[in-house]
Amino acid sequence: MIDIKKLTKTYKNGSIAVTALKDVNLRIEKGEFIGIMGPSGSGKSTFMNIIGCLDRPTSGIYILDDKPIAKMTDNELAEVRNSKIGFVFQSFNLLPRTSALKNVELPMIYAKMSSKERRRRALEALDWVGLGDRTHHNPNELSGGQKQRVAIARALVNKPSIILADEPTGNLDTKSGNEVMEIFMRLNKEEGVTVILVTHEADIAQMTERVVTFRDGVIVSDELNNRGELNSVD
Ligand code: ADP
Ligand code: MG
Repeated sequence: MIDIKKLTKTYKNGSIAVTALKDVNLRIEKGEFIGIMGPSGSGKSTFMNIIGCLDRPTSGIYILDDKPIAKMTDNELAEVRNSKIGFVFQSFNLLPRTSALKNVELPMIYAKMSSKERRRRALEALDWVGLGDRTHHNPNELSGGQKQRVAIARALVNKPSIILADEPTGNLDTKSGNEVMEIFMRLNKEEGVTVILVTHEADIAQMTERVVTFRDGVIVSDELNNRGELNSVD
């Protein structure tokens, strides 16, 4: 599904150039559950932004579902992003004084979907993350874990085939973090969604099936987790 070859990203600010990714190669199959680790500044977010079609590589190849990204126009790229990819961020990115329901509906308002269909999809997604009884609460009336679940519901309304989560548990206590991880695991196992999740917590990475570690813009390890091996023995 995702095939990346010799991917390089260099940021240029005036005369200063920073190479955030260097000749990165990676293949990700449909339905994988991947943890991305690595120290701050190692290129994890840059990698996620490129996978998510929010940014383009400086050089190298990125093929998503048999289509090379480099050949696409900006409009085509946006179309791929909107139809295939859901994003979840560390800081939730919710409107604080707007109900959970409206927060989830918002991207569909921009997409000019009918209000009936919008409402239907938002309620379905909120129900799926276990917040069917919190739809009229504002984010400031919800716990951190619940806020992140609203953000996940918002990422799900277009039925993406890939979820990209950049430090989704970074602002959460252990219990809420686990609650959010359970949602990602269910999404992966029950719905077959490919989940790619950045974390710097080993306990969180342990819950994924494969851990890819970056350092200074290169992949320094790519390992299957025990969990994956245990599952396949079962
Ligand atoms: P991580 O998410 O692993 O912390 P990033 O991908 O955010 O790493 O950053 C990798 C490197 O690229 C860092 O040196 C960072 O300072 C640099 N960088 C990231 N985004 C930009 C940008 N928009 N402009 C210039 N440099 C950037
Ligand atoms: Mg980052």
